Amino acid sequence: MGGLPATSTTGLVDSPADGSAVGRLDRRVDGGLALTTEVNVGAALLRAQRRFGECRDLTALAEELVTEVHRCGHQRVLLLETVARSRHRELEVLAARGDLLLVAGRRFTGTDLTRMSPSAVVELVPGHPRAPRLAVWGVADASTPALEVLAAAGGAAWRALVATDDARRAGTELSGAQLLLSGALRLAGLGSWSWNPATGVVALDDRLREMLGLDAEEPDPDLDAWRARIHPDDRGPFTGVEDPAAHAGTSAPYPFRVRTADERERTFLGMSVPLATTSTSVVQGLVLDVSAGEKSTGELVRLAQCDSLTGLANRSVLDTRLAEALERATPTDAVALVLLDLDRFKLVNDTLGHQIGDALLRQVAVRLEDAAPPGATLARLGGDEFVVMVPGVSRTDAAALIARDIIRRVRSPMLLPGLPEPFVCTSSAGIAVGHSGTGDELFRSADMALYRAKDGGRDRVAVYDSAMRDEAQARRDAEHRVRRALRTDGLRVVWQPIVDLRRGELVAAEALVRLEDPVEGLLEPKSFVDTAEDTGLIVDVDTWVLGEVLRQLREWRRAGQGLQVSFNVSGKTLEHPAFAHRLAHSVESTGAAGSSLLAEVTERTLIDLSTSTRASLGELRSIGARVGLDDFGTGYSSLSYLDRFPLSFLKIDMSFVRPLGTSERAAAVVEALIGLAHAHGMVVTAEGVETEQQAAMLREMGCDRAQGWLFGRPVTAGDLPLPLPLPPAGP
Ligand code: C2E
Ligand code: MG
Ligand code: MG
Repeated sequence: MGGLPATSTTGLVDSPADGSAVGRLDRRVDGGLALTTEVNVGAALLRAQRRFGECRDLTALAEELVTEVHRCGHQRVLLLETVARSRHRELEVLAARGDLLLVAGRRFTGTDLTRMSPSAVVELVPGHPRAPRLAVWGVADASTPALEVLAAAGGAAWRALVATDDARRAGTELSGAQLLLSGALRLAGLGSWSWNPATGVVALDDRLREMLGLDAEEPDPDLDAWRARIHPDDRGPFTGVEDPAAHAGTSAPYPFRVRTADERERTFLGMSVPLATTSTSVVQGLVLDVSAGEKSTGELVRLAQCDSLTGLANRSVLDTRLAEALERATPTDAVALVLLDLDRFKLVNDTLGHQIGDALLRQVAVRLEDAAPPGATLARLGGDEFVVMVPGVSRTDAAALIARDIIRRVRSPMLLPGLPEPFVCTSSAGIAVGHSGTGDELFRSADMALYRAKDGGRDRVAVYDSAMRDEAQARRDAEHRVRRALRTDGLRVVWQPIVDLRRGELVAAEALVRLEDPVEGLLEPKSFVDTAEDTGLIVDVDTWVLGEVLRQLREWRRAGQGLQVSFNVSGKTLEHPAFAHRLAHSVESTGAAGSSLLAEVTERTLIDLSTSTRASLGELRSIGARVGLDDFGTGYSSLSYLDRFPLSFLKIDMSFVRPLGTSERAAAVVEALIGLAHAHGMVVTAEGVETEQQAAMLREMGCDRAQGWLFGRPVTAGDLPLPLPLPPAGP
């Protein structure tokens, strides 16, 4: 080292031999760096750093550390923030006091250091007022080519250092910085590994070998042997390490269990990062043993970063990685986001129980892991929503291929504990591919695509396109309209007559909702009911309509008039536990006749029949209301669900009624349907009857009731041609 006197201490290094003898890296008058060895900065500092991962009272530990650093004549401590992340809050207190310089961990990974802003680089240059006195740098490993790895790991900071110094002293600085680096790693209690595909070896540093209990003679493991030491459930973050070019790295620390040489299980906290230079391409990893504080630190980190049910990443980890991937992305190297949602998962939970639901989610996670390409990040956002984030995608159809493979794998039958038969679960996926913009924007796009996949019938993949943005806007407008109408008394009910076909008399009226929009005027349900369904606002809409129905019934009753009223009730509304209960209460308290009520439900409701829906339907029946099936023929058109719930009436959809008179087949189908419904004891109503011919044919076939423009369009209550008084003979 140079003979000039040292003027300021730049950094501390320890000797790799035992970790207690520490060197000092000094800045010389001529601007160069000088390394003085054998300066002991104090055992307390070393102990403090080592205990960092295990200590519960971090503030006390950090105080100890800072005191020790001050005692040794230094002013600040810089900690590798990735290690400190779980203790951020406490450390921030120290940082605010100026005792500690917290630098985001990302700066210390290869790719990010090279992207450091110039001002951040300057901060690391010795002599700068904010330059750290004790630095913990990057993830270099003694066995990897020194200059290249340091250039990659230290990147811009290193270049900034050499730029200020004479090229002649570059070598000295480099070895000093290297020593500083390995010393710093040791100080932080970190082990490091690197995987070099060129050599096929996973190089472990001494500290990691120690942590694993490896003998000095034992060679470093190859990739398979290293992976074999890791608990099978915890190998997820290592996905894709085979190919450093494709490995996305793990920007946030992840916990994983490892088997040591003496067959003990330890819990390590690790992170890895791909480092590519012109001549080498490696994956570097840092590891901290958190076994001692596993219940606190390890579990906390696990909870904070992993989805506890499936072990996949959670939302916050995904967000970080997505932001990083987008930062690196280019038009030919873009990021694909696949949002996956299981079809009708709620039904699984409701009918088979949560344990089976959980087992299903775990199996889906395993299938995702099998299907995901190297470098992908898999996450579960909660419920049955999964995400696969794939960097390095050049074309949308490549992403679609991945998504199709995923839903194909999820669809294949799975054995679930407690179920005698293999279970089949379909899923839908929405894809968005992007290379600019924010993660949030990409999420929104993928979400719109997922909506399209669900809306298109589920069990399919949809790729985002710009038209979806307009559709999404239209849905938002509709939602806004419904909310405003609910708030400002903007809903109306119109009534459509239902006649007895044989007697030709009005026997009932169907209550149909309308929305009085201040700008667009009176809107029909087609422009807002679907959105109300999607957003759950339908519960409020149905509740309001029913209130109006009861009010009208009372009014007619007071006037001595009687009429059955049909109302539409969505599956979502029936699902709501309070709905039927409140209805029963209103019927009781207002003295309205429950037997005048006809509740129309759809096939969908009966197919997805959950416990709460069944309870609501039961309650409706208990107040005397009749429950029937609306729009028969538009959905599954299978009467297999009839035995799930006793129905009083069936309405044949207008699509069956319209071809009557022009298609013999349609006539045969309608006739068969009427027979089938009668055999089940149901009263049959034909919808959308517009012509005398249709009415005559239906009458001939034995259809009981009819509704349609032939008998009357939906009108206000006052315009209904009410029978006076007529005790209804209903279904
Ligand atoms: P729906 O229950 O099947 O109601 C019958 C629909 O057919 C009504 O449309 C009605 O105006 C129309 N219609 C009746 N006769 C004829 C005809 O002869 N020809 C033609 N072309 N159409 C006819 P609307 O009022 O637009 O309602 C559409 C759907 O919106 C309803 O179908 C129902 O599914 C839903 N809906 C209406 N009100 C409510 C409500 O309060 N709650 C819920 N959840 N859904 C509602
Ligand atoms: Mg209806
Ligand atoms: Mg209908």
